[in-house]
This record gives sequence, C-alpha cells and structure tokens, in this order.
Amino acid sequence: MQKYLDQLNSSQREAVVNTSGPSLVIAGAGSGKTRVLTFRIAHLLTQGVPPHRILALTFTNKAAREMKERIASIVGNDIARNLWMGTFHSIFARILRSEAERIGYPSSFTIYDTADSKSLVKSIVKEMKLNDKEYKPGAVLGRISAAKNDLVTPASYARDQHRMMEDQATKKGMIYEIYTRYMRYCYKSGVMDFDDLLLNTNILFRDHPEALQKYQNIFQYIMVDEYQDTNYSQYIIIKKLAEKHNNICVVGDDAQSIYSFRGAKIENILNFRNDYPGYKLYKLEQNYRSTQTIVNAANSIIAKNSKQIKKDVFSEKDTGNKIKIHNAISDIEEGYIVINDIKEKHLRQNYDYQDFAILYRTNAQSRIFEEALRKASMPYKIYGGLSFYQRKEIKDLLAYCRITVNPSDQEALKRIINYPARGIGKTTLDKIEAAASATGKSMWEILVSVENTSKLFNAGTQKKLNSFVGLISGFRAGVNQLSAYELVTEIATQSGMMKELYQDRTPESVARQENVQELLNGIQEFTMNKTEEGGETGLVNFLEEVSLLTDQDNESEDDINKITLMTIHSSKGLEFKNVYVVGVEEGLFPSNMTIESEQGVEEERRLFYVAITRAEDNATVSFARTRYKYGESSFCRPSRFINEIDSEYIEFSGDQIKIPAVQGRFSASSAPKRSFGSSDSPSKPGYNFKKVNSHTVQNRPSSLGSGSVGNLKPGVIVEHIRFGRGKIVNIEGQIPNAKAMVDFDNAGVKQLLLKFAKLKIL
Ligand code: ATP
Ligand code: MG
Repeated sequence: MQKYLDQLNSSQREAVVNTSGPSLVIAGAGSGKTRVLTFRIAHLLTQGVPPHRILALTFTNKAAREMKERIASIVGNDIARNLWMGTFHSIFARILRSEAERIGYPSSFTIYDTADSKSLVKSIVKEMKLNDKEYKPGAVLGRISAAKNDLVTPASYARDQHRMMEDQATKKGMIYEIYTRYMRYCYKSGVMDFDDLLLNTNILFRDHPEALQKYQNIFQYIMVDEYQDTNYSQYIIIKKLAEKHNNICVVGDDAQSIYSFRGAKIENILNFRNDYPGYKLYKLEQNYRSTQTIVNAANSIIAKNSKQIKKDVFSEKDTGNKIKIHNAISDIEEGYIVINDIKEKHLRQNYDYQDFAILYRTNAQSRIFEEALRKASMPYKIYGGLSFYQRKEIKDLLAYCRITVNPSDQEALKRIINYPARGIGKTTLDKIEAAASATGKSMWEILVSVENTSKLFNAGTQKKLNSFVGLISGFRAGVNQLSAYELVTEIATQSGMMKELYQDRTPESVARQENVQELLNGIQEFTMNKTEEGGETGLVNFLEEVSLLTDQDNESEDDINKITLMTIHSSKGLEFKNVYVVGVEEGLFPSNMTIESEQGVEEERRLFYVAITRAEDNATVSFARTRYKYGESSFCRPSRFINEIDSEYIEFSGDQIKIPAVQGRFSASSAPKRSFGSSDSPSKPGYNFKKVNSHTVQNRPSSLGSGSVGNLKPGVIVEHIRFGRGKIVNIEGQIPNAKAMVDFDNAGVKQLLLKFAKLKIL
C-alpha cells in the first residue's frame, strides 16, 4: 500500500481507492472530504491516469491551488500541473475560450465584473425610459442572475408565470425585457458576465453535441468539492460531462449549504442517489480539525434544523475549552474584547497571528475590527471590500486592456474614452451610445465608421474621436506581436495614463503610480510563469486570470502571518486555530432579511455551523448590546443561535474590559454613516475578485537589507507551487520588488518576484 494511503482512515481510504463509478462522500465539517478528493486525485495519477483526463472543481482558486500543491508533493509537479483543476468559472471560461466561436462569441471575449454589469443594466433602464428607482441595477441583476443559474433564457423567462408574477408584485414587470436586451448586448459585444460562463457552457453542450462529446471523452474522472453549493447550471454541466465515463465523485455536507441566495440547490446533493444509480456512499465521521467541545457544540447547533441528513461526527482530539461567549456593551467594545483576547493568546499561548480569524456576517462589520487592530498595531488582512483590482487606476488600465482585445466591450470604452481627459464629453458619448443602440451596432463600430460620426459631430469633436480610434487601433495591432507585459507597458504610456498619474506628487498619486507598477510587475510575472509552463502569455489570457480571481485569492508573500478578517461565507472550507464569530445578534445573524421564513433561518443556522466548525482549538462568539445602524446607535439582542448551543459547551465571559473613551460615541450627528443590510450578501466569489486588501501596521522592516527578505536568504530550502523544491541562490532588491533566484531540483534556476512567487520555507 502506498505511503500516502497511510495518512487516511479506513473510510477515507475506501473513498480514495474506489475510483470507478459514481461516489458520494457526505460528511460533516472537518472530516477530511477535501483531503479525500486530493488523495483520490493523487491516487489516480499514481495508477497512471493522465492528469489531463482528470477534472476537479473547487469552490475557490485558492482551494485548487492548495490541492494542486499537495498533489504535486505526492506525484511531482510536472504531472500535477496538467490537471484540469479550478473553480467552475475558471475551468469553463477556459473551455469557452477554445469553443466560443461555435456559439457565436469571439475567443477573445471579455468578462464583466459586477460593476460593469450594473452599469450596463443602468444604461438599458435608461434606454427603456424606465424608472431607475424601481429598477435598481443590483436588484435587476439579482433576478437576471437567478434566471441564468436556473438556465432560464430570456425567451423562457417571459413564459415563466412564476417569475413574471414575482416581478410584477415588486413593480419590476419589465425585467424580462431588460434581460433580453442585456443578453443581446453581451452577445453583440463579445462579453460574458460570470453567470454567462456557466450558461454559455450549457448552451454549447446543448447545441453542439460534438463539443460535449469531446469533453466527455477527455474527462475520464470528475470530482467536485462543496457539491452542496452547486447551482442548477453547474449541476447540469457536471451531469452531462459525467455521462460517458460515469466516474464521478462529489463531496459535500448538506449542513454547510449556505449559498441558496445565489441559486445553490441543496437538492443536488440530496438527489445524487437518483441521478447516479449504483452510486457508492461514503460517510466520514471523524473530525480531525476541532476539539471535542467544538464538534459537539456544532452538532448541537445543526441538530436544531429540521431538514438534514443525519450524521454522527466525533472528534478524538482533546476536550478543549468551552466556547466563550462575550457580551459587549457596544460594537466598539466588541472590537476591543476580541482584539484583547487575540493579544493575550498571541502573547501567552504562543499562537501566531495567522492562527486567528475574525468572522462576520456582513462586510460592513469589518471596520470596527480594523480600527481596533490598527490602534493595537497588530497585522491583519481583510478579504472582500475594495481590493487591488477594484482600485480606480487599476480598473482604468484594465479597461484599456479589455478594449484592446475586444473593442466592442462598451463598459470598458465608456470608462476610458475620456480618461485621461481628451475633450470627449458626455454629450458626445451619449450621442455615440444612442447611435449604437439605434443601429444595433457597437459604440466602437460607430466610432470607426467616419461616415456615421461625421453626421453627428462637428469637425473638432470628429478629430478627437479619430485620434482615440487611432490610439486604440495602434494597441490592437500589438495584440499578436507583443507579450502581455510589453503591450500593457505600451498602453500605460501611450494612453497618457502614466503621464496623468505622474503629474502630481501627492501621496495618493504616488500610491496610484505604485499600484500601476504593481500591476505591470504582476503581468511580467504572469508572462514569465506562463512561458515556463508553455502556456499562453497573451493579454487575453492575463485578463481572464484577473477576472476570475476570488476573494480568497492572491494573497501575497507578506500577507502570510496576519490575522484574517472575512465574512463567514468566504471562510468555507478553511480552518484556523482560533475563530471569533462576531456580531451574533438577532437581525444581524440571523439576518433580518431571513428571519421571516423557517427556510431562511435554517440557512443562517447552517452558516453559524460553518463559522464554528472553522475553529481547531478555540471558538469564541460575541454580541454587542448596542450597534450603529444607519448612523444611529440601536439596541440589539443576542442571537437565538447562542441559546441553541448546548449549554454544556459554552461559558459566558464576565470580563469587564476597559476601553478607551470614544468621543461622541452615542451622538448620531458625529457618527460616521455606516450602512447595514445592503451589503449583507457576501462578495460573490469571482464577482468581487481580487487581491486582498491588506495592511501591516507592525513596524517590521520590509527588507532586511541585501541578500535576505524576512527568513528568505541564500541557502534556505523552499517550495514553489509550480517548480517544487529548490534552494535559494540569491535575493536582490527590496519589497515589494524583491526577487529571489532559486535553484529548483526539477526545474533548474529561476528568477522569481517574491511577492508573487509564494515561496514556502521547508
Ligand atoms: P469542510 O467541511 O470544512 O470543508 P473537510 O471535510 O473538507 O472540511 P478537510 O479540510 O479535508 O475536511 O480536513 C480537515 C482537517 O483534518 C485538515 O487539516 C486535514 O488535513 C485533517 N485531516 C483529515 N483527515 C485526516 C486524517 N486521516 N489524518 C490526519 N488529519 C486529517
Ligand atoms: Mg472541505
């Protein structure tokens, strides 16, 4: 028996070695489901299955990366890197890239993020002369997204009485028409939003059996993690792909289904038995993550749900501490209590900062913890919120890139046609947009056809437009000639963006310049890595990689030893030694929006279960008795969930913690406005893609002088996700541009930018 199989218990091993036919692994949190998938893939590879015949779908890119790393350590890097492993969105974007033309899209299609989609909805609402108070972009998009994830096309939407009635009831009877125009626009412009990546894959497989067959043949083995949170669109793709070989293994936990608001169907896991007759069921019962107390407490929480598959979960780790419940006077005090507790554990119990996570229900709650952490000079990273790729200067430069690969990308065009200012005003833009929608052409087509525009504009404007068209056409000519790095450098300069950014020397402006520089570094690194791998280095490929990043992705080297702040939704699948679940109050958690229905509360309870089960050693729950909402302090009650934890496993903390007086704390007028509710939904993986917005407040030297960065110095043995094990030969430069020269055992000597290389010290 191979050595890696010794690292599994007997039921895990069964699930790993029985690779033929359908398998369902259904088990509670921390029982090794993800580990089973990882080892199963490694097992298949050691049995000689070629890596490109294996498709593994994960919930985040980070999870895929970690699995790949682990597999590489068993079978070697060269094999592991050829696996089809990633999120649904990234895998099917890749497939669509090569098949797009079959469904009438260019292979250079660009991908819209939420902001682009909202802006598009806004212009459609305007074009249809609808009331923009009734047709708010977020709400409209939510309906469109739900329809897409249920595979309801615009035509079937109009026939769907249930949807139509729901829309009418909320005074949004025209959504089907907005949806129709939205789809038409995307099709015409060669753009896809996130849901389209799945919907269009379904369309491709439905209308082009030869394409379906091709991928059915390729994917001899299919595996899906977090199956309980797949939506209908994903479910059908998997079902079709698995039809031929029938070797499908899905793992999941019905108790952790937390994305129904985004279309996830818990039924997918419940119906597996009907979909794949003859399937084998594996139950894993031992939790390896958490103490007995945490496991028992979590079991007592989820037992309150009426709908669930019964599971016995136990831990053989220590009994551990009881779950501490902190009762804070205010949200600000809650921040201090949590931070003091972290400080104490860090100092007295030798936990690293990375062993702590603060988990909240809504992104808006992060602010207070950030402030408290900053004051205490403790390093932290925060997921979600305004991330690197959402910063203005980055979005601007990326918009130039998008229009360069796909000039029909209207949102990109609108963003930069007059940035940096070139005298093309709003009236001109409106005219172009109107002409485009009247003729069914794209704005770019209007711009390039001089005949049309000369009727619309005076000579002066005409000249400016021509020069803009000339500029973009020049960039386009570089697409097939230059690497992504060369081309984007050219774009940044020639567009005038660099000049604009370098004009003033304010700290904000310097920060923006650095961000642009960082993006360029990232592209350089991308080009280098892809060249090594023999992959595509073009701008199209870079853009795709950037668009598909999720909240958990793109941690940089200096993000490693920090306290994590994130929503519970994004913490799925992760684990931390110490977890603080904060803001556990009625109306916030469970959220007000869910309280009306039993179903809603059950989903929130699953979310609470997910939160508690992230903890290995200690779980701490807190609530505040007053909290700022809509600029006012209001009273809060502890959440029902606190009472639902079996009292045997909890203890209330009586600590009184002195907190610094905060001026004007209870005066509404001096309070900063903070909103709750609207930001309740967590950022959508992929929608709110990007780089972690992180801050280090510790006074750590950013580089320890020449020859070393932190613990990285010549002679140190490291591991790189792609190149495997190697020895550092040299370090040069300063953070953020420090580079390491590493001599890899199997890949030779490579020069790597540290901030992207994610080197692990062995
Ligand atoms: P979740 O439901 O939260 O996604 P999971 O079921 O996927 O959890 P894993 O993340 O795979 O669980 O495993 C939880 C932890 O237990 C990990 O740290 C994993 O390495 C460890 N673990 C799992 N099985 C074993 C085992 N047989 N021996 C030692 N450690 C194990
Ligand atoms: Mg898992």
